[in-house]
Amino acid sequence: MAGLVYDVVVIGGGPAGLAAAIKTTEYGLKTLVLEQGEKLGGITLQCIHPGFGIHYFKEDLTGPEFIYRFIKKIESLGVEYYTNAYVESIEYRSIMEKKISVIMPGRVLDITTKTIIYTTGARERHRYEINIPGANVSGVYTAGEAQAMMDLWGVMPGKRVVIVGSGDVGLIMARRFALEGARVEAVIEILPYPGGLTRNIVQCLKDYNIPLYLSHAVVEIKGRKRVEKVVVAKVNENLEPIPGTEREIECDTVVIAAGLIPQVRLLEKLGVPIDPATRGPIVNDYLETSIPGIFVAGNALVINDFVDYAVEQGEQAADGARLFIENKGIHTRKWRRIVKGRNIRLAVPHYVSGDKDVVLYARVKWPEDNVWFRIPETGRKLFMPKVRPAEMIRYVLAKDDILKTTDKITLEVSGQ
Ligand SMILES: Cc1cc2nc3c(=O)[nH]c(=O)nc-3n(C[C@H](O)[C@H](O)[C@H](O)COP(=O)(O)OP(=O)(O)OC[C@H]3O[C@@H](n4cnc5c(N)ncnc54)[C@H](O)[C@@H]3O)c2cc1C
Repeated sequence: MAGLVYDVVVIGGGPAGLAAAIKTTEYGLKTLVLEQGEKLGGITLQCIHPGFGIHYFKEDLTGPEFIYRFIKKIESLGVEYYTNAYVESIEYRSIMEKKISVIMPGRVLDITTKTIIYTTGARERHRYEINIPGANVSGVYTAGEAQAMMDLWGVMPGKRVVIVGSGDVGLIMARRFALEGARVEAVIEILPYPGGLTRNIVQCLKDYNIPLYLSHAVVEIKGRKRVEKVVVAKVNENLEPIPGTEREIECDTVVIAAGLIPQVRLLEKLGVPIDPATRGPIVNDYLETSIPGIFVAGNALVINDFVDYAVEQGEQAADGARLFIENKGIHTRKWRRIVKGRNIRLAVPHYVSGDKDVVLYARVKWPEDNVWFRIPETGRKLFMPKVRPAEMIRYVLAKDDILKTTDKITLEVSGQ
C-alpha cells in the first residue's frame, strides 16, 4: 500500500462521524476524518434550538453546544481531520484495502484504509419529489436552506411563511420563523397525523398559535417574481387532493420540510444493497454493509430524530471497525434476520449475529396507544403507552435472547 494509509477513515464530520472517530482513536487505531464543509459538526451547527443530548449527556443543549463537546475531544485526542475535503469516490481493492479519492482546494488526495465508517448524513426532499408544481419563483426553500440562512448567515428568508411537512424539522422551523417575527400562516401535513414528536407539536406550534392542517397538501405555488400564494387542498385516504376543496393562502415564502433521505450515493455506486424502508444500506449488528470493512452510522444509516442515537450508532460502528481490524474481517457463527411484523415500518440492523447484545431501532407505520412491542421468538414484550411514526423505538436485544432464536427475529406492535 502506498500514500496515506489509515486503519479507519471516517467520511463525514457530523455527530455520528465524530463519535466514531473518538472511539477508534481511543482504541489506538490510526483514524482520519474527512468533512466536506468548512467546519466539523454537521447539521448540528445550524440547529441553534435546544433538544440535543438529552439521552447522551442527560442535559438539554443546543446543537452547537452539543457538538462542541465532541470537537473539543477530537482536538484533545489529536484526531487527524481535513475539512473542505469532499469524498468523491470509494474503491474496494481487497478485504483490508479500500481507496478513497478526496477533492480538496487545489488538490486531489488518494487515501488507503482498512476500514471506512460512512457517516454522510441525509439530504432533504425537494418540492418536485413531493409533487408541488407551479411557478419556479424565488421564496421556495428547503428547511435546511432556510435554517442555514437564518442561523448561520443572519438573513431572514421571508415574512409570511407556509411550512410544508409537520416532521420535527418543519415544526422547529415554524417556531424559528415565529421567534424572528415572521407570520407563520400554516403548517401543511398530508398525513392524518402530525409527523413530529409530541413535544415539538406543543412547544413549536401550540405555544405560538400556529395552525396545523392535517390531511392537506400544497398543490400549487403561485407568484410572478416571488411566491405570492400557495393553493392548498384536502386529501383523501389515498393522499390524493379532493377536487373542490382548494383554497389559497397568501404568503411570500414556502419552506419544504418533507423529510430526509439517507445520503448513500457513494455506497450505491459500490453496489451496496439499500433497504427501501430506511433508504439506507442493509447492515449487520456491527453496522457493517454488505462490503467487508465498510460500516455506516447516523442519518446515512437511518433517519434519527435524536442526535444521541446517531452518536450511539457511530460508536457501534467504531466497535465494528476495531473487531474487523483485529480479526481481519467479521466472522460470525450464524446470522439471524430481523423481520418486520405488524405495524413495523422499518428496523435496523437487518441481521444480528448472537455475538453480543444489540441495540435495535424501529419505527411504526401508524400511531397507536396502549400497545406492546413484542418479539415472539424470544417471548419478550414491552408495554408502550403510545407509539408514533416520528418516534424511534429503541430496544436492547440481549445476546441470550438472540441465541434462543434460529433464523429470524420478528418485531411487532400489537394490542396484547
Ligand atoms: C432541523 C433539524 C433539527 C434537529 N433537531 C434535533 C433536536 O432537537 N434534538 C436532537 O437530538 N436531534 C435533532 N436533530 C437530529 C440530529 O441533528 C441528527 O440526527 C444528527 O445531526 C445526524 O448526525 P450525522 O452525523 O448522521 O449527520 P450530519 O449531522 O448530517 O453530518 C453529516 C456530515 O457529513 C458530511 N458529508 C456528506 N457527504 C460528504 C462527502 N462526500 N465527503 C465529506 N463529507 C461529507 C456533511 O457535510 C456533514 O457534515 C435535528 C436535525 C435537523 C435537520
